[in-house]
Amino acid sequence: YLQDWSGCAGGQPLAILRPRSTDELSRMLAICHAHGQAVVPQGGLTGLVGGAVPAGGEVVVSLERMNRIERIDVDSGTVIVEAGAILQTVQEACRDAGALLAVDLGARGSCQVGGNVSTNAGGNRVIRYGNTRDLVLGLEVVLADGTVLSMLNQMVKNNAGMDLKHLFIGSEGVLGIVTRVVFKLQPLPRGVSTAVVALQDYPAALRFLRHAQQSLSGQVSAFEIMWNNYLVTAVDAGKLRAPLDTSYPVYVLIDMHCGQPETDAGRFEAMLEQAIEAGWILDGAVAQSVAEAESFWAIRDGVAEVLRDYAPTLNFDVSVPIAHIGDCAARIRENLDRDWPALKALFFGHVGDGNLHVVVCKVPADHDSLMRIEEAVYSVVRTHGGSISAEHGIGTLKRDWLHYSRSEAELALMWALKQTLDPKKILNPGKML
Ligand code: FAD
Repeated sequence: YLQDWSGCAGGQPLAILRPRSTDELSRMLAICHAHGQAVVPQGGLTGLVGGAVPAGGEVVVSLERMNRIERIDVDSGTVIVEAGAILQTVQEACRDAGALLAVDLGARGSCQVGGNVSTNAGGNRVIRYGNTRDLVLGLEVVLADGTVLSMLNQMVKNNAGMDLKHLFIGSEGVLGIVTRVVFKLQPLPRGVSTAVVALQDYPAALRFLRHAQQSLSGQVSAFEIMWNNYLVTAVDAGKLRAPLDTSYPVYVLIDMHCGQPETDAGRFEAMLEQAIEAGWILDGAVAQSVAEAESFWAIRDGVAEVLRDYAPTLNFDVSVPIAHIGDCAARIRENLDRDWPALKALFFGHVGDGNLHVVVCKVPADHDSLMRIEEAVYSVVRTHGGSISAEHGIGTLKRDWLHYSRSEAELALMWALKQTLDPKKILNPGKML
């Protein structure tokens, strides 16, 4: 309860509350509100920006006991679940019922769906199904004073007034505590085709992305880029097998969720052959089994082992328009090489969503150096009109840089919403805003 995955450690909380129901949580918050007691909502603590970490003296509210999957309705394409359910557990229950919950990320075995909603998690399938925000139909939220807002809408279309759930999605627990979620489900794919391909450079990856989307009629369900140094480091850290024998500058892990695996696999391979003939990809390996596809994904998901082996790291999760990613990565690398030639920086990301991750390894401990490394990255992102946080949120670690991506007027409106919903500012103080 004292630190999250970022390693960001805080102070001792006053108490840890673990409600079993919305009603219990509502009464807890009403008491905290009456006493002006600060509260920190916690999910699975896989956040990477310190958002769920107590600074000291707050009451921690862990949703871990509110983990029931209440109803899966395959005909309506919905699942209603309590916020403390582990994402993977919900994914598996939906799969067993014959439907796909498309929210998916490397932390699936530990993160909670309430945490996913509160961070508007992105992940591996955004290119096909959207961010968490696109997959949430309804929410139940408890406000700072204990008021329960029940917005458990189950329809795709509902324009009866403002859609208030969006205030809470991605607001990192500063406006209310999410207690129940209605997710939209997708038809379960009957198969998946997966490949790792090698490319000369980023422009080739862009051409390949356009080609793949066109040939597969938008069925691409993941398009993950890995620059050579990320792949080599992840293979080494995870003791994995490299997918190709030769080394190349850039790799893409691509997969497609298929409705008709027999014919779709042929379309997937034909698409790859055309890309080789056109010279956009130089080499590639198509997974011949589920185990081989998993071994390809292990490299992309191997970031956890990289963070472990190369701690302390600075982790960047930025987004810029897709066409700018190559230039953005090159300019960040130039800045880092110029001022810190000895530092190792790894580049990879969900490129189909314009999302670039950079891990700077074994960074110096002093605050001044850390700020200068952050400036070296965020100044480039700002120039491209990008976001300093594509998917992980702001928490405490990125607060100093929020103004690089949000105007003064936007920040003032965020504060006005905070003032309206939580006038005593008890919910997650010091986070995001
Ligand atoms: P926590 O870490 O517990 O909390 C995160 C924030 O949400 C905090 O501000 C907390 O106060 C708030 N919060 C939690 N639960 C609630 C609630 N019920 N109501 C209100 N506020 C709440 N993120 C991505 O977007 N995409 C990725 O691909 C991705 N990959 C990852 C891979 C690994 C290996 C790891 C460790 C993390 C990854 N993350 C990724 C980050 C993280 O997993 C997500 O942000 C996740 O959604 C956090 O969920 P959690 O339950 O762990 O939340």
